[in-house]
Amino acid sequence: MTAPNKPTIIPVKTHKVKLLEVNQETTNVRSFRFSYPHGFDYKPGQFIMINLDVIQDGISKFIKRSYSLSSAPMQEKHIETIVKLMGAGSKRLFEHMKGDELEIAGPYGMFTFQEEVSNEVHGRKLNHIVLLAAGSGITAPLSIARYILDSSLALKVSFIFSNKTSHDIIARKELEKMTAEHDNFSLYLTVTRPEEDPDWHGLTGRVDEKLIKAAVHDVSDALFYLCGPAEFVDHCAKLLSSLGVDTKQIKTEKYE
Ligand SMILES: Cc1cc2nc3c(=O)[nH]c(=O)nc-3n(C[C@H](O)[C@H](O)[C@H](O)COP(=O)(O)OP(=O)(O)OC[C@H]3O[C@@H](n4cnc5c(N)ncnc54)[C@H](O)[C@@H]3O)c2cc1C
Repeated sequence: MTAPNKPTIIPVKTHKVKLLEVNQETTNVRSFRFSYPHGFDYKPGQFIMINLDVIQDGISKFIKRSYSLSSAPMQEKHIETIVKLMGAGSKRLFEHMKGDELEIAGPYGMFTFQEEVSNEVHGRKLNHIVLLAAGSGITAPLSIARYILDSSLALKVSFIFSNKTSHDIIARKELEKMTAEHDNFSLYLTVTRPEEDPDWHGLTGRVDEKLIKAAVHDVSDALFYLCGPAEFVDHCAKLLSSLGVDTKQIKTEKYE
C-alpha cells in the first residue's frame, strides 16, 4: 500500500521510434506514423509524450508534448498520431522528416476503450459508443472507432465530429468509408462557420441537444467519449448532463 501523502511515481517508459511517414491532413494538421516501439502495449484512446528539442530564448532544451494515438493497437507495424500546428512543440515536430529518430514515452491515459470493462456501467453493458470530437480532438476517438470496427465488435458506434469548416475535417474520407462499409457506424459532421463554406450542405452549428438526440435515441444505453479543446469538452459534458446522462457514462480528454 502507498504511504499517505507520498506521490505515486509513474514509471517513465521511454522508447526510440523512427518517423516512417508524414501526411498533410488539412492546411495545419499532419499525421505522423512512427515505428512500433518494442514491447509497447496500448489501449485505444491512450496518448504518448514526445520529447522535442527546441531553442527557446537562445537556449537549446527539450520539451515534452502529449499526443493521443490515432492508430488502433492491432496495427502492429506502426503507431500514429495526428497533430495540429500550434506553438513551439508542434512546430518542432512539423520540422521532422521521414527517417528521423525521436524519443517517446508512454502509453498513458485513462481515456480508453477496453471491451471487457469500458462499456459496463453500474453492472450493465452499454451497447452504443458515442464519440464526440472537435478538430484535432479526432485523434483518440479515431483510434477507438478503428479498433471497434476492425475487431468487428457487436457495438453501435456514432461519431459526432465538429469543425470550423469542411476544409478542417481530418480523415473525412476514412470516416465516410467507415459509414459506407459498416452498418453499425454512423457519422455526424457539423461545421460551425458555414458562412465561410458555401459548398457545405451538411449539418451546421455547434454540437447541441438536437444533434445528440438525433444521434442517440437512448442515452441510457450509451457510453460517451468527449475529446478536443477544453471548451468543447466542457460544453458537451454540460449538454449530456442536462439530458440526464450519468457521469459514469462520460469519458473526457482535454487537449490543453
Ligand atoms: C492527453 C493529451 C492528448 C493530446 N493529444 C493531442 C493530439 O492528438 N493532437 C494535437 O494536435 N494535440 C494534442 N494535445 C495537445 C498537445 O499536447 C499540445 O498542447 C499542443 O500540440 C500545443 O503544444 P505546442 O507546444 O505546439 O504549443 P504551446 O505553445 O504549448 O500551446 C499553444 C496553446 O494552444 C492550446 N492548445 C493545445 N492543443 C490544442 C488543440 N489541439 N486545439 C486547440 N488549442 C490547443 C494550449 O492550451 C496553448 O494555450 C494533447 C494534449 C493532451 C493533454
